Amino acid sequence: MKITVLASGSKGNCICVEGGSGTILVDAGISNREIRRRMAEAGADAGDVEGLFLTHEHSDHIRGADVFCRGSGVPVYGTEGTLGGLGGTLKKPGALSMHAVLPGAEVACGDFFVTAFRTSHDAAEPSGFCIREGDVTVGVCTDTGMVTSGMLSYLKRCDAVILESNHCPLMLAEGRYPAFLKRRIADRERGHLSNPAAAAVLRELCDGLSHVVLAHLSEENNTPEKALATAHEGVGLYAGNLDVGVARQHTISDSFEV
Ligand SMILES: [Zn+2]
Ligand SMILES: [Zn+2]
Repeated sequence: MKITVLASGSKGNCICVEGGSGTILVDAGISNREIRRRMAEAGADAGDVEGLFLTHEHSDHIRGADVFCRGSGVPVYGTEGTLGGLGGTLKKPGALSMHAVLPGAEVACGDFFVTAFRTSHDAAEPSGFCIREGDVTVGVCTDTGMVTSGMLSYLKRCDAVILESNHCPLMLAEGRYPAFLKRRIADRERGHLSNPAAAAVLRELCDGLSHVVLAHLSEENNTPEKALATAHEGVGLYAGNLDVGVARQHTISDSFEV
């Protein structure tokens, strides 16, 4: 599989997973036009997309979903709660082919097998995904205030993980956000994963991982350098065996293959 993070952060998220015979997108939080432009830049063909998997219904994850899928007939997958949230935003309800997924149950999409797992975030029924093709699995775990042992058990199956590393707790605490927003971001039940929390997850996973992309970085309360440094501290001796990258908001990430 070839993975490219097309966009990542609070202004829009989209991940492109190209397999042997088709492609899956995870989230469509940038415009239809921008999805297509960035896919082309990554060398991917928007005509190959076999399914769009949505982690949750916040606008930075669904902005382009309606137009992209209506124009192309690409089916949308998500938990019932996520699809319910998406449904309320659609121009022509009924025009999209929507498929509810149950957390924990594997669904087939082309040659891919995808399993959703629950995350902790202030959305209706948020989830991450394990995407498997053959014996290779890629995990997507963003927009979650914490990573539980249950979530870890899904991520431990993965060869590569796109993992949230949203904020530096010190930058958040000392930053200019109002107190209520600081509390919401840092909330373990409903918020976003901090750099040290992501590093602790990587410490658990790094033995079996070849690639990690740190994702959904805050432009206000984080820097790529801080996120990378904290992740490297977390993985310690394994740092040499693990390719750690950072996803960006305004440009596509370097593609990698697993
Ligand atoms: Zn988000
Ligand atoms: Zn969100």
